Amino acid sequence: MIEAKQASLLYAEQSREIYACKAIDMAVTEGEFVGILGPSGSGKSSLLYLLSGLKTPTSGQILVEGLDIATLTDEGRAKLRRRDFSFVFQQPYLLGYLSARENVAIGCDAPDALQRADQLLAKLGLADKGNRFPHELSGGERQRVCVARALVGQPRAIFADEPTAALDHTNGEQVVALLNAHRGSGALVMVTHDPSMLAAADRIVRITDGELVREG
Ligand code: ADP
Ligand code: MG
Repeated sequence: MIEAKQASLLYAEQSREIYACKAIDMAVTEGEFVGILGPSGSGKSSLLYLLSGLKTPTSGQILVEGLDIATLTDEGRAKLRRRDFSFVFQQPYLLGYLSARENVAIGCDAPDALQRADQLLAKLGLADKGNRFPHELSGGERQRVCVARALVGQPRAIFADEPTAALDHTNGEQVVALLNAHRGSGALVMVTHDPSMLAAADRIVRITDGELVREG
């Protein structure tokens, strides 16, 4: 479904050049859970931004269904990110002036978005918290609301960038389990530096200094 072909992301600042990602070749197939593991600064977030179309590679290609996303219009790329892909970030970003259920419903264009939000929140153990505002929720609850928002539009791929970093271990494991259990037929690409979060992954890809570490 998503394929990186010799994809690189080069940051150039003054005289310094940093390859955040270097000649990455990898693919994410339909419905697969891929874990991306690597130390801090190794290029995990950059790789996720490339695969998801948040950033365009400085060389090489990212193909979605065989189509180079660099050839899409800005509008086409925005639609891809809005409709087909969703994100869970490290920090549980929610809009403070919207309730939990309203925050979730933002992730969905359908007229019954709020009902869908309620159903998902119930599945994630937050049935009685839908009308609370973010500041009335714990960190783990806020991250679960973010998970619900990422799931509500039934995306074809979910990208999660260290979604457990702000949580204790038990809450972290729970968030990953929820993402995995409720993603339906969507692929899940999750970045972490904690291998224990990837017990359910179909495949683990390791990155160091912007380069994939070859297996075996
Ligand atoms: P990770 O998510 O594994 O911690 P990142 O993908 O965030 O790693 O960063 C990879 C490398 O790219 C690091 O050396 C980082 O300093 C550098 N980098 C990331 N973002 C930028 C940026 N906007 N400008 C310049 N360098 C950056
Ligand atoms: Mg990162």
